[in-house]
Amino acid sequence: MIILIILKIGGSILTNKDSKESQINSVNLKRIVGEIKKSLDNSYKELIIVHGAGSFGHPHAKKHKIGEAFKKEQYPQKRIGFCEIQNAVKKLNMLICDAFIEEGLPVVAIPASSFITADNKRIVGGNLEIFRKYLAKGFIPVIYGDVVLDNELEFCVISGDQIIQYLALNLNPTQVVLGTDVDGVFNKNPKTHDDAIFYEKFSSIEDLDTFEGTTNVDVTGGMVGKIKELLYLADLGIESKIINAEVEDNIYKVLESEKVKGTIISRS
Ligand code: ADP
Repeated sequence: MIILIILKIGGSILTNKDSKESQINSVNLKRIVGEIKKSLDNSYKELIIVHGAGSFGHPHAKKHKIGEAFKKEQYPQKRIGFCEIQNAVKKLNMLICDAFIEEGLPVVAIPASSFITADNKRIVGGNLEIFRKYLAKGFIPVIYGDVVLDNELEFCVISGDQIIQYLALNLNPTQVVLGTDVDGVFNKNPKTHDDAIFYEKFSSIEDLDTFEGTTNVDVTGGMVGKIKELLYLADLGIESKIINAEVEDNIYKVLESEKVKGTIISRS
């Protein structure tokens, strides 16, 4: 049986989210690409990469208030905002794909804005047949947080986390892994609370003490948004794991099914 792993690399790892400028974290990127290569060299597996938009997407999305209702006369202004965001996240994606291709890894970008549509910020349409076709030919499809057309709101932003949920629901992966900049889920934000308690397993949103989304600028929900998407998957019997991709070799180990500290999101 061929293993299919859906791996998300968070915007927090790949960009400097606190900065107003679009800045890639090329040290983290290079290291993570190296870890992925090492694992793929060990044994063949199908892999889909999802990445966040980080500082390339969120400030633009915030500025243009994409995903909020607007008056008819604002349409042209919102539309150009949509274009600005689409272009900004595409630039990040190109830098990421550059790093993979330099290592000889066959990545192919499949932007959500080119085939996904939403209804009130939830993905409702997007034919994933092309993912299956690229996977069958040995490619590594790469998709990322993006803007898409929305039936209710005209336009909206969809997070890499919602994309993970949609892909996992439809592609029957062996493993769903999310790499971020903390060890996993805590009862409160570990970056602002020294006494935060770590969960090895997380099964209910009620286990959170606060709904503080994230320390980073994020219009798509931060950790809380992530957990909600993953609990939805857990409801359908699909487990996922959040790990710290800042810790060297964690991505390699998780791809090798070795033990890595992290939080499993599961209802059982
Ligand atoms: P990414 O860009 O990697 O997808 P985000 O920045 O959106 O990740 O979310 C990760 C951040 O969420 C962490 O840096 C952390 O500060 C914050 N966070 C807020 N609440 C929690 C919590 N209860 N447990 C873990 N992290 C949390």
